Amino acid sequence: MTAISFEFYPPKTDEQRTQLDRTAEKLKQHAPEYVSCTFGAGGSTLSYTSETVRHLKQSHGFEAAPHLSCMGGSREEIRELLRLYRALGCKRIVALRGDLPSGMGHHGDLRYASDLIAFIRAEHGDHFHLEVGAYPETHPQADDAFSDLRHFKTKIDAGANAAITQYFYNPDAYFRFVDDVRRLGVTVPIVPGIMPISNFTQLKRFSESCGAEIPRWVGKRMQALGDDADGIREFAADLVATMCQRLIAGGAPSLHFYTLNLAKPTQAVLSRM
Ligand code: FAD
Repeated sequence: MTAISFEFYPPKTDEQRTQLDRTAEKLKQHAPEYVSCTFGAGGSTLSYTSETVRHLKQSHGFEAAPHLSCMGGSREEIRELLRLYRALGCKRIVALRGDLPSGMGHHGDLRYASDLIAFIRAEHGDHFHLEVGAYPETHPQADDAFSDLRHFKTKIDAGANAAITQYFYNPDAYFRFVDDVRRLGVTVPIVPGIMPISNFTQLKRFSESCGAEIPRWVGKRMQALGDDADGIREFAADLVATMCQRLIAGGAPSLHFYTLNLAKPTQAVLSRM
């Protein structure tokens, strides 16, 4: 059985908290290796993330990993969060640069994820297992695909233990990325990030900003399915499950699901694997 992990975002309202609890209960049966909780750039969900991580650990019994981004934060703020996560018993962190919210002009004390990794290693040695982001279809702000690969290697050389990819629907992009970074000497596990499809219109919009490509043929089939909600759900789950099977058959070490705090789309994929 392939190891899996689930990603949640921190709820901000009572309704969202109830939804996360329901989702966490349902997904628990799939025995994830760990769950992670995202972080809003510029400190906007600073305490929401740590509160959610605490809740996922203490109320649901998950190994929970906070995402931590350095964008917009000072060394002292990051140091404080690291102390808090260590005190909460966290052993794993997803370490990212993050993105600046529009209107915010200050990068923070640490510029890139590689600086954050080096900082965490300098402050806490090997205490944390550190995951970083990877972009099989190239990070949208990269100067070019090759410099992006070199910068990825810098992050790993700074002390990251593993990487989780941005989502994609083209497994060849993942296999090519893994081959390319292996040639550069990167040996750590590269875990595919899997986005089950719940709302195709939203997904299309979001994919444009984060640099993930929706293959033309997928868009065309979705378009042809029109208002057929059952047909869309079936096609989406089958598409993502088939991709997961190809990834595992091709050597992917585990799968990380972007759940968006919903159980059904992820379960629909897992039930077909
Ligand atoms: P980096 O690795 O620092 O790279 C960012 C860009 O800078 C790339 O284009 C890279 O090529 C370039 N670069 C890197 N080093 C150098 C250098 N030395 N010189 C010049 N250029 C360089 N965002 C959030 O805000 N919160 C989250 O919780 C969150 N979770 C995520 C989880 C995963 C698994 C992934 C893949 C992404 C997540 N993101 C999250 C999004 C992420 O923060 C953005 O994609 C961000 O733009 C890049 O972060 P990074 O850590 O990959 O950056």
